[in-house]
Amino acid sequence: MQLSGVGVSPGRVAGPRVVVVADLREPDASAVSGDLEAEAGKIGPAAESVAAALSDRARSVSGDARSVLETTAVMAADPALVASAERLVRDRSLPAPRAVWEAAGEFMTALQAAGGYLTERAADVADVRDRIVAALSGLAPPGVPELTSPSVLVARDLAPADTAGLDPDLVLALVTEEGGPTSHTAILARALGIPAVVACSGVLGLAGPGLVVDGSAGTVSPSDGRVVAPARTARPVWDGVGRLADGHRVKLLANVGSASDARAAAAAEGIGLFRTEFCYLSATSEPTESAQRTAYAAVLAPFGGKPVVVRTLDAGSDKPLAFLEMGAEPNPALGVRGLRVAFDRPDVLDRQLSAIAAAAADTGVELSVMAPMVATAAEAAWFASRARAAGIARVGVMIEIPAAALCAADILAEVDFVSLGTNDLAQYVFAADRQLGAVAALNDPHQPALLRLVGMVAEAGAAAGKPVGVCGEAAADPALAPVLVGLGVTSLSMNAVALAGVGAALRAVDLAACRALA
Ligand code: PEP
Ligand code: MG
Repeated sequence: MQLSGVGVSPGRVAGPRVVVVADLREPDASAVSGDLEAEAGKIGPAAESVAAALSDRARSVSGDARSVLETTAVMAADPALVASAERLVRDRSLPAPRAVWEAAGEFMTALQAAGGYLTERAADVADVRDRIVAALSGLAPPGVPELTSPSVLVARDLAPADTAGLDPDLVLALVTEEGGPTSHTAILARALGIPAVVACSGVLGLAGPGLVVDGSAGTVSPSDGRVVAPARTARPVWDGVGRLADGHRVKLLANVGSASDARAAAAAEGIGLFRTEFCYLSATSEPTESAQRTAYAAVLAPFGGKPVVVRTLDAGSDKPLAFLEMGAEPNPALGVRGLRVAFDRPDVLDRQLSAIAAAAADTGVELSVMAPMVATAAEAAWFASRARAAGIARVGVMIEIPAAALCAADILAEVDFVSLGTNDLAQYVFAADRQLGAVAALNDPHQPALLRLVGMVAEAGAAAGKPVGVCGEAAADPALAPVLVGLGVTSLSMNAVALAGVGAALRAVDLAACRALA
């Protein structure tokens, strides 16, 4: 049986299947009618088995990973947590998993109330809680399992926090039931250069020990679990300078979210999008200005003397940040996200802007900043004045809301450049959630509606004499890059692995051919 989804990162591999377990559901609280002592007696052994498994894993790794696992093992075996959960079983007849859930919840509330370093530990207690609850319920612990051999990862969807730190030598391919071509699973797979299929309905139910994944055709079928992974094809050769066959310059820049991304992208002409929120996906409190300065400098360091565009925090929707949580919303993609969070918390924006300016000075980069999710010229002006007050000379905004594309000329009057976020722009133009498999086919940057908006923005840029870049995934498509250039786009920013392919594709065409394609 073969399933079809949307292929988002090319290549064909086969290997054993490892399922990423989604978040645990809150355990049932209905009262236990049987022996309460026997129910309470399950908690200690479950906690010990979790602690033992974590200690085993700690012994097999070194460095920071080892100390994190050792500390988590100690927490799992904490007699205070076990005793408090046992008490809840005896006093309130709660089932053991529910008792652990509530006891851990009390610990987490106390840690969060204590503030500072202890707030961060609440996330560790939640991890221990989930592991003990899973052990008591006979389930695998949630999250990406520790891989020890090359495997195909299968999930309903993967959040950026799940995928940070995935090892491309152990992940043969990614397959998700949800997600679209611009979901973070897709972006990550392309960044790691591993095959991926998203929007593959039914893959979690597919029988068999393994899977064959064809990221070019978008198909997935069962296999005997043997690893078949052809050597990765040689990348096209590119000399590191973005230009067409006739010499017309198009800067080719990198999208980065971490210091390791930046090191991998050092051949790029600069950074076109630094997703700063990726530094803080698991932070539970706002990082201090000096911690931000250090973190940003670590990312910018390989780019001394080169242009970099740092985007201020794009929190919310597909990239939630715990310390900027805006509460439940019926439509998070249409809610308080990106720059909108800063309207409520301008102090957070101001601290970030001054940390970015300091990190740029520390590393000698040629700094620009830009804001995500800008809807109007007034919002662009608001951001620009705060960025300039922080001493930042070059200020831009992302164009990823259709209203902003339609009013690009007004926005360009307020800022020095714009960068098209085609991932979100497609989501809003086609009214198709970028995380939802069922509408993935609509999120196609080759669609004329999206390209017409790109053309309008590029025209406004040319009239204003200001640069118009593309930093969404459309820029990483070698077939689309010449079209974007033909529409008038002046720079393209993409994950490091895509640079050579796009660079080589541009070398094969001149500006007249790009315009004809557009
Ligand atoms: C975009 O929306 O195209 C973009 C580049 O930003 P992100 O993918 O981080 O939302
Ligand atoms: Mg976006």
